[in-house]
Amino acid sequence: NIPIITIDGPVASGKGSVSAGVAKVLGFNVLDSGSLYRLTAYAALQQQKPLEDEEQIKQTAVNLKAVFKGGKILLEGEDVTDAIRQEEVGLAASKVAVHPKVRKALFKLQREYAQAPGLVADGRDMGSVVFPEATLKIFLTASAEARAKRRYNQLKEKGIHSNIADLVKDLKERDERDLKRSVAPLVPAPGAKILDSSDLTLEETINQVLEWYRG
Ligand code: C5P
Repeated sequence: NIPIITIDGPVASGKGSVSAGVAKVLGFNVLDSGSLYRLTAYAALQQQKPLEDEEQIKQTAVNLKAVFKGGKILLEGEDVTDAIRQEEVGLAASKVAVHPKVRKALFKLQREYAQAPGLVADGRDMGSVVFPEATLKIFLTASAEARAKRRYNQLKEKGIHSNIADLVKDLKERDERDLKRSVAPLVPAPGAKILDSSDLTLEETINQVLEWYRG
């Protein structure tokens, strides 16, 4: 039995940083499932496929040729590490994520990450759909304002200028699409612990997850 910690939650709730921090302490592997939806969306945009065409996008997901290497993500040899982090790719990702056939294609890929000594998986449906057998399930939340501020700072570090009002609007739009879709809507998995990080530092949030994990 491989120990698995799932961390699900809305846009910019800190899932990525918390997962990386927890995985580092425990020496576990990490699955950033959002990157697979982003890669699918990015490839589909490049192939000029309509994002609402389920069959066509499913083909893109099935044939996804992505390589994760030393913190970099390569798509058909092209370094797309930064390109897939753009807000427009995030929005496009939430559009391809509504298709059940796309989710099914990515499901298999995600299951392969469950390897010794353990896995921290972050996304929207890690605890509810992909790893229902997880040892510990977390639902990480934060206020829209706290999340927009974090996203603003992340983008600024990358030299990308944005504004808080636009970011709040973007993340509410994505939250709504994630909440309302018919398959794997964004709700806490049964048995998930709710962790509100609005007033916690990254370190405090990581420590809370570790405390729950160690019981
Ligand atoms: O987490 P991230 O912002 O990178 O995810 C991009 C989009 O991919 C999300 O807005 C969501 O629509 C979708 N997604 C999903 N299921 C996951 C991970 C991401 O539907 N497990």
